[in-house]
Amino acid sequence: MKKEITKKEINNLKFDELENEITHLGYEKYRSKQIFEFIHKQKVDTFEAMNNIPKDIKEQLNIYFTFNTIKIYDAYKSKKDGTVKFLFQLDDKNIIESVVMKYKYGYTQCISTQVGCKMGCKFCASTKDGFIRNLSAAEMLEQVYRAENYLNMKVKNIVLMGSGEPLDNYENVINFLHLINDQRGHNTSLRNITLSTCGIVEKINELADENLPVTLSLSLHSPFDSRRQLIMPISKKYKLDDIIDSIRRYYFKTKRRVTFEYTLIKGFNDRIEDVEMLKEYTKGIDVHINIIPINPIKEYKTNIPSNEDVINFSKMLKNKGIKSTIRREMGSDISASCGQLKRSIALNK
Ligand code: SAH
Repeated sequence: MKKEITKKEINNLKFDELENEITHLGYEKYRSKQIFEFIHKQKVDTFEAMNNIPKDIKEQLNIYFTFNTIKIYDAYKSKKDGTVKFLFQLDDKNIIESVVMKYKYGYTQCISTQVGCKMGCKFCASTKDGFIRNLSAAEMLEQVYRAENYLNMKVKNIVLMGSGEPLDNYENVINFLHLINDQRGHNTSLRNITLSTCGIVEKINELADENLPVTLSLSLHSPFDSRRQLIMPISKKYKLDDIIDSIRRYYFKTKRRVTFEYTLIKGFNDRIEDVEMLKEYTKGIDVHINIIPINPIKEYKTNIPSNEDVINFSKMLKNKGIKSTIRREMGSDISASCGQLKRSIALNK
């Protein structure tokens, strides 16, 4: 009886893993470097396109490996600021989102790490349809590679702030970080990558122990457990004192400045006592607060701060010596905030 071969996804393999596989098949080491470059530098997504690899090797590759490819389902360009929002279709037909923003210093891409999300934050569109599945490292890489090929540019900064909770898909995210950082491939500096989390304490500690210089961003949104619990169900499990301890640990291990994301909700988290408590939580570490004026969604559209409210809050922080910036809204005409476009499409279909 013929034995079934389970094909491995070649674009999920780290360099050493690929080299092992290729030499195991009896080919010379330099072939693995060529293949790795085709995948992560030329960004091809078929074996056929590897034009200086001999036919017999390609045939073997086709037997043992497959590509996990994603396709551009749609792309929308903002007329206001050139932001491009991508809808990608995965092999299993699920749709995910990613956004590319152009800044003075280069392109920044926001990628998704899961299809849907389990975290249930009240104001976030990505979680409203529940959790479907984790993305593989290859599916995270592919968001970058397909966007780069489409726009004919190279992404400089990557933020893991699209749909999903990156620390709830830990292994694949770490794999992605190693792959995108590989000098023989895409060669993105880990210093140019930001990982955003709702605060999963044991995973923040684990990440600190990896000793990777990625910027950690905590979605704080309120410095009081009682209030945070009202908008972020995960805070019933992890208390702020423990989260902040793990953030401090991360800071002291990596020496990387951390950021707190702070979605401003009028009357809820913009009071003087919030600022005072934020002062406590930022003591002794290099923290930058990113104020995000809340982006209304169907299920959460009250207490939207005015521009003046937002500026006022940043002044209150400044008076206490806390560094902050107000996140500029990009691509508002194309529903560029996470989860919004996919949902509006699903609703229209
Ligand atoms: N799960 C991760 C990353 C995804 S969300 C996390 O929680 O950090 C990226 C950021 O956008 C988070 O800070 C999230 O709370 C915020 N966000 C989500 N929906 C928003 C909305 N409607 N308005 C403003 N910020 C929002």
